[in-house]
Amino acid sequence: MSANASTQLVLPILPLPVVVLPGTVATIAVDSDAIRLAVDAAQAGDGRVVIVPVIDGQTSAVGVIARVPNVGNLPNGVAAAIIQAEGRAHLGSEVTTARSGRWTEVTPVADSRPSPRVEALVRELRVTLEEIAKLRNSRRLPEILRTVTDAGTLVDSATAWADAPVDHQLAILGAVEVGDRVEIALAWAKELLAETQVTEQIRTDVTEGMEKQQREFLLRQQLAAIRKELGEGDEDVAGEYRTKVAELNLPVNVANAVNKEIDRLERIGAQSPEHSWVRTWLDRVFELPWSTVTDERFDLEAARAILDADHHGLDDVKDRIVEFLAVRKLRHERSASAPVDESPANAEPVAANTSAERGNGAIITLIGPPGVGKTSVGESIARAMGRKFVRIALGGVRDEAEIRGHRRTYVGALPGRIVRAISEAGAMNPVVLLDEVDKLSAGGWSGDPTSALLEVLDPAQNHTFRDHYLEIELDLSDVVFIATANVADTIPGPLLDRMELVRLDGYTEDEKLHIGRHHLLPRQLKRNALTGSEVTMTDDAIRRVITDYTREAGVRSLERELGKLLRKTAARVGQGSPTPIVVDGDDVRGYLSRAKFVDETADRVSIPGVATGLAVTGVGGDVLYIEVSSSDGEPGLTLTGQLGDVMKESAQIALSYVRSHASDLGIDPTRLNRRFHVHVPAGAVPKDGPSAGVTMITALVSALTDRTVNPSLGMTGEVTLQGKVLPIGGVKQKVLAAHRAGLTTVALPKRNGPDLEDVPDNVREQMTFHLADTISDVLTVAFATT
Ligand code: ADP
Repeated sequence: MSANASTQLVLPILPLPVVVLPGTVATIAVDSDAIRLAVDAAQAGDGRVVIVPVIDGQTSAVGVIARVPNVGNLPNGVAAAIIQAEGRAHLGSEVTTARSGRWTEVTPVADSRPSPRVEALVRELRVTLEEIAKLRNSRRLPEILRTVTDAGTLVDSATAWADAPVDHQLAILGAVEVGDRVEIALAWAKELLAETQVTEQIRTDVTEGMEKQQREFLLRQQLAAIRKELGEGDEDVAGEYRTKVAELNLPVNVANAVNKEIDRLERIGAQSPEHSWVRTWLDRVFELPWSTVTDERFDLEAARAILDADHHGLDDVKDRIVEFLAVRKLRHERSASAPVDESPANAEPVAANTSAERGNGAIITLIGPPGVGKTSVGESIARAMGRKFVRIALGGVRDEAEIRGHRRTYVGALPGRIVRAISEAGAMNPVVLLDEVDKLSAGGWSGDPTSALLEVLDPAQNHTFRDHYLEIELDLSDVVFIATANVADTIPGPLLDRMELVRLDGYTEDEKLHIGRHHLLPRQLKRNALTGSEVTMTDDAIRRVITDYTREAGVRSLERELGKLLRKTAARVGQGSPTPIVVDGDDVRGYLSRAKFVDETADRVSIPGVATGLAVTGVGGDVLYIEVSSSDGEPGLTLTGQLGDVMKESAQIALSYVRSHASDLGIDPTRLNRRFHVHVPAGAVPKDGPSAGVTMITALVSALTDRTVNPSLGMTGEVTLQGKVLPIGGVKQKVLAAHRAGLTTVALPKRNGPDLEDVPDNVREQMTFHLADTISDVLTVAFATT
């Protein structure tokens, strides 16, 4: 016990709901009578009170003797007192005095000297408190540790600093023995340290996380600012692409490839050129209608009705197309009704089966001169099938890359035409028209386009078509390919093998009249914003346009000329001419000025040495005037007019035949020792083929016998050295050309006789045909009138 144990005091009781530990100073509000009486009493007496903590109705047995040096008002007007707590005191019994308030006996207790064990505990306590100070980054606690040497006071001050829970403060207050107090404090300090450590850990974790986030946020802000500065916008490009992927229901292989590229896009900066390549690629991929197919129609009657409505005539072509559709329909029905579990082990992908089934279908190829409606028939087929239509122009295509695309590593690389066509169609099952396959040429630097096209058309391969640019497999097995060509000769062989040729040879005048009246005229009226009640054309007028302003197998020029004519009438209607304007045959000239074509045959063959041949060129059947003259000089043959090798040989054969049969032909042998010049005009058009043989002989004989050739006659046929006439091709086109040119008689090889069935009846009826076995048969007709 301390030395002062016996010193008893009587002090006013200051009851407080808090613990004020010795060595600390506190400001309290003077807000109750008890407090005010105690403060007043202290000031009236020796200035001291005993603080008695009353917590939860419990009164502590140990109080704290305190001075009250100052009383005043807080800034908010409440009366307050400063109290300096000094030391512990045991509370005795309350005493009753004449002075106001409650008073009590108190026995102050001073701290005893700590034992060595307690000293050791204190050192530990100090270490613990230092740690806490460090973790909490406190300035006050290290100061306490440095300035307070006394163990008991250290505990009191540290407890006060830590603002420990009231229970703990009470326990410290109650621990009158220093040893007890240090023990309690140490246990509590250890707990506090542990708690502080955890809190601190959490705090750093949180701050670090936040710092990282903040750093990234700042970086992103800067990046966005830079992009904006560079004019690259700050939109989330990759995010937009991902949204698209999610929306689009792409096939798995496509989605994988696309996602890979989006990842790449995120990695590379927007400044890198690769960034825009990747974006272009992604845009191209998204343009493709991956999951869009149009429903195919299988109504054959409706299909035929559409074909009939769009095109006049062409019955063979339409029949063939309807057959083609019928086969597809059948196959479709069969595959739909086939028992699904026929072979349960057969887990092969469906595409492989169906494409194998489609395997035997050859590609329909529409062959014919320009303007006969090949392209528009292709469009009608698409309409009849209920599919989209796209056209790929192959004229002049030399490189494989045009079909299959450039590798992405090339600057400005593009997908090939097939991929672009599918994008344009907007569905995976369009009708694709491969226009002008005969104009496809090899010799590009990146490989032969034919082989790429073969792969596209091969049902065994085309369900995994790989475009070099896209690098994703594309299933083309649902696409219907149709090809067009002017002539079959120049279609690359391997392609020709896969094709089924459907010929459109051209139209007769009557057919053209019908097409003009029912298809071209209504369309041109509409284009010129006219109605049928404002302008009408008589049949005679349309016929006049056909004969005098066009000379073609198809109807392209006819449509153009009709358009021109209607523009002129539209101008008149615009200027207020009374309607309806009726255009009759004789009015045509007023609208279209001078006739472009006149019947020149009679004129051309009016002198000896000229004969009219019939030929087929890229623009259809045509008439050719073969001219022969002879002159002094070295005997031999001069040929002009862009002739091919075969045609040159025909000329040689013709001359040899004439020389060896001179007497039979009634030719003066002396005339044969001259130089002959054979010319085939219309020089810009390359001509070849053996079928000019008969014409050349006829022209030679004409020149050598000074007789003119029958002006109404056109001829065609290959001739042997013995004078035999061999069959040729293109009879229908040639006969139509002869008819167009106003010829009425045609000499052709006997063995071509059956081909005349292809010639429309009305034309056949208007013409006379001579089927020749030998050249003399031809010559007989040629010189019949002279
Ligand atoms: P091609 O592809 O053979 O060169 P197009 O398809 O371009 O010919 O035809 C030229 C124009 O002639 C088109 O407007 C087409 O509609 C029209 N045409 C051709 N043949 C017919 C036909 N039999 N009936 C109606 N219009 C036709």
